[in-house]
Amino acid sequence: MIPASFDYVAPTTVEEALAALAQYGDEAKVIAGGQSLLPVMRMRLNAPEWVIDLGRIASLRGVRDEGDSILVGAMTRHCDVAADPLVAEHAALVARATATVADEQVRHRGTFGGALAHADPAGDLGAPALALDAEFVIAGPAGERVVPGAEFFQGLFETAVSEDELLTGVRLPKHTGWTAHYEKFVRVAHQWPICAVGATLRVSGGVIEGAAIGLTNMGATPLRAAGVEAALVGQQATEEVVRSAAALAADGAEPPSDLNGDADYRRHLVTVLTRRAITKALGRV
Ligand SMILES: Cc1cc2nc3c(=O)[nH]c(=O)nc-3n(C[C@H](O)[C@H](O)[C@H](O)COP(=O)(O)OP(=O)(O)OC[C@H]3O[C@@H](n4cnc5c(N)ncnc54)[C@H](O)[C@@H]3O)c2cc1C
Repeated sequence: MIPASFDYVAPTTVEEALAALAQYGDEAKVIAGGQSLLPVMRMRLNAPEWVIDLGRIASLRGVRDEGDSILVGAMTRHCDVAADPLVAEHAALVARATATVADEQVRHRGTFGGALAHADPAGDLGAPALALDAEFVIAGPAGERVVPGAEFFQGLFETAVSEDELLTGVRLPKHTGWTAHYEKFVRVAHQWPICAVGATLRVSGGVIEGAAIGLTNMGATPLRAAGVEAALVGQQATEEVVRSAAALAADGAEPPSDLNGDADYRRHLVTVLTRRAITKALGRV
């Protein structure tokens, strides 16, 4: 289908984009890679009168070293995140999850910030960002604010970014030397997962010294499997430790039931995927 007609503006700075948002208010929608917004507009589920394209704002693209963390610009495309050496070295879980997003075409248009701002519970990037204690940098009329991951995802397709604000970047604390794996279970290739698990671990001398586990599509927002993490840290990296920790993965989760599987199915699936994710992450040590 063809989208409803709209006017288009392509600012070259964040300030201009914020001014356009202030001017057009709830008649406007920002577009990043368009990989989620355009389908919705084509189905006429959303019909903004103004589309504000962030594609010409150079300052929103790229990955920067900030000392203890790296900053991924909101408009950095999935293909660039997946190939970035700083991301590979300091946030391996994000690199691995990003490489599983959709197919090459989508990864060449879709952006890190667009995917996180969209906040699809089945999106692959929220759980890894949460697991890495990401901080979300948001610009608005009152200036810049930084929101921790636990407060960024507020519900189904809902984030801390208000209508007059922009997500400008995501700060990822360095997890240098942490091994990582993202285990994704799909019904159809190149699509969103029924459920997925991101695991990243710091292991020394066979002992798990650090563990961060994120769950995708196990609720309205990405989740952190705190019980699994606690059961791993300080333990020898053995099959039995991994198995009993992974059994805790569904604790506290309220997964959806849909045509791909009901909640009980997902509760079981997430324990299997957690065991696989941790085992494969350990295999990379
Ligand atoms: C066929 C197909 C398969 C896909 N498979 C997967 C998959 O397997 N896993 C997965 O995770 N994703 C998948 N996606 C989604 C893909 O990752 C999109 O790139 C992503 O969801 C949206 O990113 P975008 O840059 O295209 O954002 P857009 O579509 O441009 O925007 C999405 C939403 O976020 C808002 N927005 C965008 N940027 C900002 C910003 N900086 N500040 C505030 N609001 C902003 C927009 O207004 C819009 O509401 C798939 C998409 C397609 C078309």
